[in-house]
Amino acid sequence: MSLASEGYLTLAELKEAGMYPSEERMAKGPVAIAECVQQIPCNPCETACRFGAIKVGEPIINLPCVDEGTCTGCGVCIAQCSGLAIFVVDKSLGDGMGTVSFPYEYVPLPEKGQTVKAVSRKGEVVCDAEVVKVMNPKSFDRTPVVTLKIPVEYVDEVRSMQRRPETELTAGGEAVQRFDDDMLVCRCEEVTVAEIRQAIADGARDVTGVKRRTRAGMGLCQGRTCEKMVQAILRAELGETPQEIGHNTARPPVRPVTFGSLAGGESNGNE
Ligand code: SF4
Ligand code: SF4
Repeated sequence: MSLASEGYLTLAELKEAGMYPSEERMAKGPVAIAECVQQIPCNPCETACRFGAIKVGEPIINLPCVDEGTCTGCGVCIAQCSGLAIFVVDKSLGDGMGTVSFPYEYVPLPEKGQTVKAVSRKGEVVCDAEVVKVMNPKSFDRTPVVTLKIPVEYVDEVRSMQRRPETELTAGGEAVQRFDDDMLVCRCEEVTVAEIRQAIADGARDVTGVKRRTRAGMGLCQGRTCEKMVQAILRAELGETPQEIGHNTARPPVRPVTFGSLAGGESNGNE
């Protein structure tokens, strides 16, 4: 299967494996698909469904099987699937539209009514989409579930989304991406957009100034992930050019090392 070589399953493979609901069933209303093809010991989907519509059975490495006649398309199993492998599709809306519900573990979550980019199994943007529902079952510490309304011809392919970044103009008239305050910028040091903005308000005028105040860029990736976002926020807040904002300076050690290794008395096994 293309999962091992490409990182995703194709629609043809799912249909061939008999895991895909019939067109007739999808035209009647929402129904779950478990795109789960690895025989791992796992069955939260089975216990999550109060209608008994998903069976794993014994042994526990059996692949899940959805009974399309029993499934109501409620989507509870999506939030409980540890493999993020369950989706609910619906081709019954009419007017050439359908919906896809999928697990979404990024923050910030989209909001109902927002326009986003619908993304295929392959990870490619395929069309614009309207967010019609966001389930965030915080009380159960489960995965949020997003439902998109899309043209029905994309229902078989769309399995995720990208937020369409909003833009704002700098004082110099440059369009830059607008980030929400609670968005993580530096994942290594867990620094948010709000903390970067506060550092700028406190006097940071370049990437190094932000780094000294927040530690953004001091983590394992040495700024490879966050530098561009820090630069964009600086440009938005200050209207500076990229040259004035500067770059991150990577400094060794770029990987965690023990004090013993630094003292030269002990190998950490990576030399
Ligand atoms: S969508 Fe609802 S009814 Fe269908 S299998 Fe999942 S939990 Fe069961
Ligand atoms: S919970 Fe998800 S990963 Fe686990 S068996 Fe069910 S569908 Fe597969």
